[in-house]
Amino acid sequence: MDPKTEKTCDDFYLYHQTLLSPAAQEFESNLSAGRVRLHHVVQVNMLTAHAVDYLVAIRNSTRGSQVKRSQLVREFDKDFFVLGARVQNQKFQIVDAVNNSVKHIELDRGRYKELVTKYGDIGFRCLREEGGLVLFETTKYRFDYSRVVLGPVLSSIARVCFDGIEAVYGFAQGGGELIQGDASDEDPIDRMIAYCNPVYKCDDCGQSEDDCRCGEFVYDGERGEFRPFKENSDFNFDFDDVMAEISGAYTKD
Ligand SMILES: [Zn+2]
Repeated sequence: MDPKTEKTCDDFYLYHQTLLSPAAQEFESNLSAGRVRLHHVVQVNMLTAHAVDYLVAIRNSTRGSQVKRSQLVREFDKDFFVLGARVQNQKFQIVDAVNNSVKHIELDRGRYKELVTKYGDIGFRCLREEGGLVLFETTKYRFDYSRVVLGPVLSSIARVCFDGIEAVYGFAQGGGELIQGDASDEDPIDRMIAYCNPVYKCDDCGQSEDDCRCGEFVYDGERGEFRPFKENSDFNFDFDDVMAEISGAYTKD
């Protein structure tokens, strides 16, 4: 790694360790205690959006690389794609747009044309505190911003544990792989237990059926609902292969 790249990786490492990660932890504990306030959301949103600037700097520290911020934000949405989710697959872009609107008083509509067409008038004013939640509200959408957008972004970027600047560099090149990992490296008994005990969470808000409040919300003009997905999905799971790993005596019928 050349000295310039090393320095930009170290800058992000420090930013992550001292600001982003502690702010995310505090936010998540406020969220689970039902104490999340509008200013908490705006603060964490700002720190998260700013983290992207550090990642752009890492990418562009390599000679010849000229990645734009908007490009990286879209890349991260692709890397952290959630099958079946509606809003979540543009979560990085929404965090970015909300931050832009707070920073510049009004959203730069030309820059976020596609998002504005889809979600409506995104801005600081579309976030509102109500009943212990911070809602995102436009003409076609009304949902829990902390759980549908900010929380999943934080899990993708703020809760990653970097064990050094090499890991930071890898993350900046393509975030998804580092934290999504490969379940086939896990203990086969643990994989079998997870397979036999699926945990269902809502695709949109990430909550269990009892805690999901999507039925009170609106997504693209329609009332939301609990949309279950298996949280512990192990996409490469093959029953016979895993059984054979657990016991050499296992044979397929
Ligand atoms: Zn839900």
